[in-house]
Amino acid sequence: MIKIKKRKILLLPGDGIGPEVMAEVEKIIKWFNSKKSLDFEIDKDLVGGAAYDKHGSPITDEAFYKAQESAAVILGAVGGPKWDNLDFSKKPERALLKLRKELKLFANLRPAICFKQLVDASSLKPELVSDLDLLFVRELTGGIYFGEPRGIKPIDNGERKGINTHVYTSSEIQRVARVAFDLARKRNNKVTSCEKSNVMEAGQLWKEEVQSIHEKEYSDVELNHMLADNCAMQLVRNPKQFDVIVTDNLFGDMLSDEAAMLTGSLGLLPSASLGAKDKNGNMRSLYEPVHGSAPDIAGQGIANPIATILSFAMALRYSLDLDKEADSLEKAVQDVLDEGLRTKDIISKGMKEVSTSVMGDAIISKLQ
Ligand code: NAD
Repeated sequence: MIKIKKRKILLLPGDGIGPEVMAEVEKIIKWFNSKKSLDFEIDKDLVGGAAYDKHGSPITDEAFYKAQESAAVILGAVGGPKWDNLDFSKKPERALLKLRKELKLFANLRPAICFKQLVDASSLKPELVSDLDLLFVRELTGGIYFGEPRGIKPIDNGERKGINTHVYTSSEIQRVARVAFDLARKRNNKVTSCEKSNVMEAGQLWKEEVQSIHEKEYSDVELNHMLADNCAMQLVRNPKQFDVIVTDNLFGDMLSDEAAMLTGSLGLLPSASLGAKDKNGNMRSLYEPVHGSAPDIAGQGIANPIATILSFAMALRYSLDLDKEADSLEKAVQDVLDEGLRTKDIISKGMKEVSTSVMGDAIISKLQ
């Protein structure tokens, strides 16, 4: 078993705008080292198309080894048209799947926060989303995306049958439920668990296991069960009713995208994927913006670095035990938005348009 180094951070900038937004995170880490006397050890490597171009593989064994021994991995984005026609095993996205699977990152955390300064970017009415702050916890390594049997098979009459299997075990459900309950205790103490227990046995098991963990270990946290289709509806009807939502891989994929869009701005949304804690309390983790490599704007210096910077803030909080520093970084982002600085993707009338690096510098100046 490879040991995790407490303060080691691996940066994997990736493709497209990945290196541009990661450069701003690197500046911030260096600022924390020099001004706050923190001792982050930064390492960097190629991932995705960039790694394929140099090494013929979307992630090398060496980069993967570095990820295993890091306290947090921060990833920019991977992919782009240049690599679209590669064999599936060589595609840039394979690197992400390998990291998630082999680091056993079973809990995907996606906050949907609507900054009051950007409330007009949402497609919902301002009063529904202003100050929205909910957190999705999606199970990431089980369910229908991984279940066996799977495949496409010929059947009678020249027809074919596509098969995927939705399968969960008690322990898979319990461990992700614990993550959700623990996080709720640090927030507004409320968990909504979503499944389709009315039509799926795996959904019924999900509901029973979450309920049982709640009764045994987390009865101080408010728990509600909600059918996933109702949750989809409630997210656009009254999203502020939620605090933490925990759900399986498939429903989490869709519902968290829906919730993300309530906030209206892809360039602002961070995410975290967490593994299990070892006996020393250390865990493997990967932090990345929700957006992709944005090939349409790559190389122009106009990408919004905030999603990646907020992903680093999540790393400070969840992997590096630096809640105060996470708070101050999130506050610095708010302050810059309050001041009216905007990258092109979130510009509106009366605001000042700035480049990727000016946005990063402005956030650092607010940290001072
Ligand atoms: P995308 O998120 O890259 O871009 C969607 C739109 O949002 C584009 O118009 C883009 O310019 C804009 N955008 C995204 N991030 C932005 C930012 N930080 N600042 C300003 N504007 C931003 O999604 P896509 O176009 O569907 O995918 C492009 C490539 O990224 C594809 O190869 C896809 O496979 C890959 N992708 C990677 C990840 C990942 O690495 N986790 C996630 C999604 C997509």
